[in-house]
Order: sequence, then structure tokens, then C-alpha cells
Amino acid sequence: MEGEMERKPRIRRENNFVVEENIDALKWPQQCAECGRPVEVTDTLKLEKTYKTLGKINVTVAGIPYCQEDMLRVRRGKLLERVRMILAFVIGIPLGFIGIALAANSPGTKIILFGVVMFIGVLAGYGLAWLIVKVPVKLLFKSKFADPVDGWLIEEKKKDGKEGVSVVLSIPNKEYADLFARTNGV
Ligand SMILES: [Zn+2]
Repeated sequence: MEGEMERKPRIRRENNFVVEENIDALKWPQQCAECGRPVEVTDTLKLEKTYKTLGKINVTVAGIPYCQEDMLRVRRGKLLERVRMILAFVIGIPLGFIGIALAANSPGTKIILFGVVMFIGVLAGYGLAWLIVKVPVKLLFKSKFADPVDGWLIEEKKKDGKEGVSVVLSIPNKEYADLFARTNGV
């Protein structure tokens, strides 16, 4: 409306974009976020996380533009990521137990160490799952998968000094990320 202040998102750019306020006012440049061709479909991210102090937070990021073909590649990419996460635990938890069994056999091991060993096991599983899933897929079927525009929530201190939630947006295509920055005045 005339005379009305335009609502603007407050964003800072680090490795990713961190949207501190007014995420609903974000503007997505109207071209495919992967290849720059005309927009055919839009994707929506539904982010949810429960915080000790702030309770359950829901944020919807709508209108992420893709061409039809890249929407498919993005869906496959997200599926692949899920497979990798599951595999990380499927491999990592037994690794953790093996580590614990080994640690339990060596004298003088404290119980507290078991948690650390399990953590290392899952971390190793995460790395192995990456090798098993991502590397071959990237080498053989790269054209069938795309890294999506992704988002997640973080808790941080806001300008007014209070704890609040910000949205981190990862935009893999550098050109599109630059365009996104200019469009939103970052
Ligand atoms: Zn595209």
C-alpha cells in the first residue's frame, strides 16, 4: 500500500543465510534455484523444533522456485539424504557397541567413556554412510540428484538481547544465492 513501510526480512549472510526476522517477507528470485530456467513449481520447507525455553517452534518457508526437472532431482536428493542418515545409525550403533565391548575389556575404563565411544561409533557410521551412499551416487548418477535449497532452525540471541529462533537457509547454487542476496537487500 502507498505510504506503508515495506516489511523486510532481516538476513545476514555467513556460509548460509541466517534469517533473523520476517521470514514471510522473503523474496525468491523468479527462476529455478538450481538451473536458472523459468519457474514451474515451488517447494515448501516445514521446519519444526522443540526448545527448552521457547517451546515448539514451527516455521514454514514457502515459494522456493524450481523447474519441473529440478524439483524431481531435489526430491531424489532429499530421499538420498534420508537414506544416508538411516544408514549412518544402522552402521554406527553396532560400531559403537563393538567399541564399548572393546573398551569394557580393557581395565580401568570408566562408564562415562561408553557414551563417548558410542558417539564416535555413530560419527564413524556417518562418515561410512557418506562414502557408501554419496560418493558412488555423485560419481555415477550426479545428473539425477540435486542438493536442495534447505533450511533449519537455530536458537540465538536477537537484537533485543532475548533468545529467539532464526532460520538458516542453505542455497547450494552460488549464482542463485547471490541473486537471492541482492533481491532481499543482504
Ligand atoms: Zn531447474
